[in-house]
Amino acid sequence: MEPVPRYLVNFSLRDLPCLQTDVLIIGSGIAGLFTALKLTPRRVIVTAKDRPEDCCTYLAQGGIAAAMDEEDSADLHTADTLAAGAGLGDPEAARVLAEEGPERIRELLEWGIAFDREEGRLALAREGAHSRRRVLHAGGDATGAVLWRGLFAKARATEGLQILSHTMVLDLLVEEGRCFGALVLLPDGSTAAVLAAATVLAGGGAGALYPVTTNPAGATGDGVAMAYRAGAEVADLEFYQFHPTALAHPGAAGLLITEAVRGEGAVLRNARGERFMPGYHPRAELAPRDVVARAIVSEMARTGEGRVYLDLKHLDPGWLECRFPTLVDTCRRAGLDPARHWLPVAPAAHYFMGGVRTDLKGRTILEGLYACGEVACTGAHGANRLGSNSLLEGLVFGGRVARELLNRPLKAPPCPPLEYRELGGEGPEEAAGDAVARLREIMGARVGLVREAGGLEEAACRIEEMWPLLYRGAAGRMGAEARNMLLLAALMVKAAAWRCESRGAHYRADFPAPDPAYAKHLVLARGREPREVPVRGFAREIKFPGGGGKYA
Ligand SMILES: Cc1cc2nc3c(=O)[nH]c(=O)nc-3n(C[C@H](O)[C@H](O)[C@H](O)COP(=O)(O)OP(=O)(O)OC[C@H]3O[C@@H](n4cnc5c(N)ncnc54)[C@H](O)[C@@H]3O)c2cc1C
Repeated sequence: MEPVPRYLVNFSLRDLPCLQTDVLIIGSGIAGLFTALKLTPRRVIVTAKDRPEDCCTYLAQGGIAAAMDEEDSADLHTADTLAAGAGLGDPEAARVLAEEGPERIRELLEWGIAFDREEGRLALAREGAHSRRRVLHAGGDATGAVLWRGLFAKARATEGLQILSHTMVLDLLVEEGRCFGALVLLPDGSTAAVLAAATVLAGGGAGALYPVTTNPAGATGDGVAMAYRAGAEVADLEFYQFHPTALAHPGAAGLLITEAVRGEGAVLRNARGERFMPGYHPRAELAPRDVVARAIVSEMARTGEGRVYLDLKHLDPGWLECRFPTLVDTCRRAGLDPARHWLPVAPAAHYFMGGVRTDLKGRTILEGLYACGEVACTGAHGANRLGSNSLLEGLVFGGRVARELLNRPLKAPPCPPLEYRELGGEGPEEAAGDAVARLREIMGARVGLVREAGGLEEAACRIEEMWPLLYRGAAGRMGAEARNMLLLAALMVKAAAWRCESRGAHYRADFPAPDPAYAKHLVLARGREPREVPVRGFAREIKFPGGGGKYA
């Protein structure tokens, strides 16, 4: 798949308008906003590709996990996180997540975020693969929206914090291993540079690579693609989590039905009306996500129907409406009443465990470049993320990035007059749209819930056919997204083909069992040989240029 062109567009910094800031944060979800808020009094620019609320964070329903109950502990939360991670979770990263979670939640409470309460105490829900009730929620099942609105309001009131919406970051400006900021596509279609002493990737996930996803349309994996082009390490790209229960109903495909409803007693039935999960896993509907998702796929194949059904009819309708208002509203708008109908559901692309490799402070191997939230890979989630741990990851690791940046002088050397002229003329936007449609189809069919060598080879060949697109400049946003998606898809296929075993979210029909020989991570970087990194110490093993001296 090499060579990969370094930038998406030809440019010369001398010809571009430049904005200056202390910290550039790419993304206005929980990771980006929380990092930004913790950085005051630094000057911060946050970019959002669309409206600031168009992010996964806003859509999150079920809640945010933290060991807040006296019956719970960071040890138990760490153990559950590592169990879900199927032997690939980094114990230190998982511990940081579990230990610092409650502190970050208390901070949100101090900031006025109204988590739901029962009799005055924080209400804690139970979710699949959590051994305790530890999922805080807000507005019933509108957790993400409540959280996001609270953070955004605070961000708007913060001096020195500027949010640039409808501004797509195209590429990171990097020279000799140091990041100086990024090239951005402004709302009027022109290009500019944002120069910053530190740049934080918080660009979220990549669900848009698949035909059916719970993610917003802008989740095209830009952050991972631009980091790879710039020379950062990316890891665990074979692990993509599919949410087992997205609505499979005309006009509402991909709308997520939170697994908290299964925690509260909803059951899954196949097209024949049979409850099937007890036959697949001792925890039945509360089994890990990948187990539930694959069980659904196999029931769909067995019955020849493209969906199974979620049965909530036995739950009290009044309580349901109170506890899951978003769910009830979403269903009603799709013409379904959960009190009377079984809800048609199927798996949808949901969360990317892979991402830009960082250490426990969110540092990448490029000086001045950090990453946190879904775009990052600390190893905390291993091969499969535990539900409700990702909002938490945005808080915990976003907080750590901010702490790191506050602890060091933010002085960057002047940005060199970078220039890039290696791409052919701009490619037509229609070609990009066409490539995306073909790419989604192949990703869904061959790089989805079930993979095998032949399918992955076919995917690699089809991606190869589209590769020449990368050698022409991107004419606009669609072109830039298509190039990012193509590059990321190629990397995901490469990683999935390398891992000849089944583990966590990565299931190979030709290697259906885990293989201890693969208890390791695959780390990729542009122009370098792939590296296999052991599980223990994954987040510590990062080799910084100059032995880490530049970061000390
Ligand atoms: C429907 C749904 C329900 C979920 N429910 C839960 C839940 O209950 N609990 C839980 O823990 N997790 C849940 N998740 C997962 C969780 O919401 C996400 O993993 C998390 O919110 C990611 O936060 P983030 O800040 O990293 O990214 P996001 O919130 O996705 O934000 C990404 C930001 O990056 C910006 N961006 C992307 N590319 C560019 C670019 N090139 N230039 C400029 N800006 C860019 C976007 O515009 C956006 O502002 C859910 C996800 C979905 C989709």
